[in-house]
Amino acid sequence: MNTNFKNIKVDLHCHSYYSDGECSPAEILTMALANGVEILALTDHDTLVGSLILQDLAKGYPIRIISGVECSVSWQRMELHVVGLNVDPKHTALIHFLQAQEQRRFLRALQISNALSQQGFSDNLLEVIEIAGHYGLSRTHFAKYLVARGAVPDTATAFKKYLGSHAPAYVMSQWASLEETIAVIHQSGGVAVLAHPTHYRLSTAQLKGLIKTFKSFGGKGIEVVSGIMKVKDMNRLIQLARGFGLALSSGSDFHKPRPYRAAIGGQTQIPLQHLPIWADGNLEFCNKE
Ligand code: AMP
Ligand code: MN
Ligand code: MN
Ligand code: MN
Repeated sequence: MNTNFKNIKVDLHCHSYYSDGECSPAEILTMALANGVEILALTDHDTLVGSLILQDLAKGYPIRIISGVECSVSWQRMELHVVGLNVDPKHTALIHFLQAQEQRRFLRALQISNALSQQGFSDNLLEVIEIAGHYGLSRTHFAKYLVARGAVPDTATAFKKYLGSHAPAYVMSQWASLEETIAVIHQSGGVAVLAHPTHYRLSTAQLKGLIKTFKSFGGKGIEVVSGIMKVKDMNRLIQLARGFGLALSSGSDFHKPRPYRAAIGGQTQIPLQHLPIWADGNLEFCNKE
């Protein structure tokens, strides 16, 4: 047990512009250092590109980088997110898995693009690619396109009016299964963490069912903190995680600097009496001196 690591600032979930964030890995590193973060994982959606760059950039700085990726998963007609921490970015099975996810993502982007054309936004795809700066298109990039076109005042409205579930340009994605995702994270030496469990709008019974399945497939941890949380919600998740014998993870889910949202490392802190995932022996560190 490494209790030295208990009382430190960490961030095990954030995004760069290699997925749907707005900052470069260098900017993420600068903010993390300025905020006193000592352990950091950049967990872009279905890509390790930014995480690899961060690992290189951070050499020589007083911060430990853990490789990370946030995988999109289809489960029981829902989309879940599973964070893989400490994966080996050079592992062949993981590389193939992420390539397949990239293809699914682009296929879905074509479908969203068609759906938006039917809503009167013709020829949108090239503009969306330009906004993203890459082909790993997220709904966030479509939302930004709609804001740039003046169709909606902000991205939240873009989701409500066009891109969210029940909206006209919503496309049910066909992501990897929960079982395959957890398996490939483990095969590549990583630890699977269920991301932001409160985002899925599940009843307690449904959430327990998900966590049970997640654990049975080899999942190791749960994000008991995602961004700025109510202490009551965090405590409920801590109790759930502990009840299932799962590790406690925490991240900001930072995408860009925003008022009233968590900065890098600025998420709610796990109370000191609970041993978090970075102190319980579940993680190794990639740029250990
Ligand atoms: P995707 O992985 O392409 O389906 O996009 C999901 C991403 O969109 C999430 O990771 C969030 O960053 C963002 N997102 C999801 N729902 C909303 C919302 N209601 N308002 C703003 N952004 C959202
Ligand atoms: Mn995102
Ligand atoms: Mn997520
Ligand atoms: Mn995220």
